[in-house]
Amino acid sequence: MNVYLQRAENIVSRIHELAAVSETSPGITRRYGTAAALEAGSKVMGWMRAAGLQTRVDAIGNIRGLLSSPVAGAGTLVIASHIDTVVNAGRWDGPLGVLMGLDLLENVVCSGRKLPFHVELIAFCDEEGVRFHTTYLGSKVVAGSFEKEVLDRKDEEGVSLGEAMHKIGGDPADLERDAIPPDQWLGYFEIHIEQGPVLYESKIPVGPVKAIAGQVRAEVIFKGMAGHAGTVPMDMRNDALCGAAEFVLALEGLARASEGGLVATVGKLQITNAASNVIPGEVVCSVDIRSADEEVLSRGLTRCRGLVAEIGARRGLTVLLNVVQTSPPVICDARMNELLGRAIGAAGYEVLELVSGAGHDAVPISAVAPVCMMFVRCHKGISHHPLEHVEMEDLRAAIAVADDLLHQLSEIWKYPL
Ligand SMILES: [Zn+2]
Repeated sequence: MNVYLQRAENIVSRIHELAAVSETSPGITRRYGTAAALEAGSKVMGWMRAAGLQTRVDAIGNIRGLLSSPVAGAGTLVIASHIDTVVNAGRWDGPLGVLMGLDLLENVVCSGRKLPFHVELIAFCDEEGVRFHTTYLGSKVVAGSFEKEVLDRKDEEGVSLGEAMHKIGGDPADLERDAIPPDQWLGYFEIHIEQGPVLYESKIPVGPVKAIAGQVRAEVIFKGMAGHAGTVPMDMRNDALCGAAEFVLALEGLARASEGGLVATVGKLQITNAASNVIPGEVVCSVDIRSADEEVLSRGLTRCRGLVAEIGARRGLTVLLNVVQTSPPVICDARMNELLGRAIGAAGYEVLELVSGAGHDAVPISAVAPVCMMFVRCHKGISHHPLEHVEMEDLRAAIAVADDLLHQLSEIWKYPL
């Protein structure tokens, strides 16, 4: 494992160098199109260039580095993750995958090995969607599924995405050209911290991702009757907040009792015209339901509708459930996962397949290519927080496994498509 120590240390020092590039200080915040995001991008591009990759920035602002294969007609493996962050982020979520991919390719170049396929290393410019409230901006461009209407979305200062793109030198007219054609893809590999405690609790450094959970986001509105908190008797009230409170707990019970890994969350409750001496007349709740099993997810939504209707009827409230957004589960590629599992086994670890409850760039890419993800254990499963941490030992394990996977892929993808 000593052979990997220097590589792991190199990755960690780059992680720290990127972490110092932030809109805020202290803390790490890099939203799309900000000076900090651009500076981080140019750092990554410098490292890619020094590694011998052909680099460019595409129209949306993704940093792309190509390691060309001498094989005529070769397909492309994309190794990628993102370098934007949430507000007050940790340093590993996103950059880990980019910097591990860079290390992997540096190692190939240094060894003088030629791969039978092209590898494009991509640092996606926006995965978290913090500035324009829309996720996967970078990977959607590469997958060819970028929706042009999104260009009109505005940030808090009233700057549209189209304007932000222009400001960083991109032209919306070029977006389509930046997609990798469907027949060019061989596969997609993303390394990411787990963002959950399963590997940590199981004492395993890395694991293959079996599926990325599908998600339903909805808004539930409870409408009752506002009234004076002192004068309306308890048995004559239609308190919208009491209905919503009952719903929050019932939804928790529904998910707890469900099989198939259903998770459900009410993350936002908004009381219209809230005041301490007014019986709440209207409450709007957010609902987030996820599962890697499409049937479980849709059954979960149906049951959630049932709960809302039942509580509304019993309490004399008018109820409304609007689905805001749905995304189906993504099943990772079985063949690539088999190879990844073999690499993990060969490194001496148990193969524990994981389900990702969080979305990743692999989601939009899965529409055009086989996708494979490897999760790396993070301390106590903490993420989106400054305490996010990956142990050096786990990085070394991840490097060994990723090397092995790339080697196995170069054996099976020896010939052009
Ligand atoms: Zn991430």
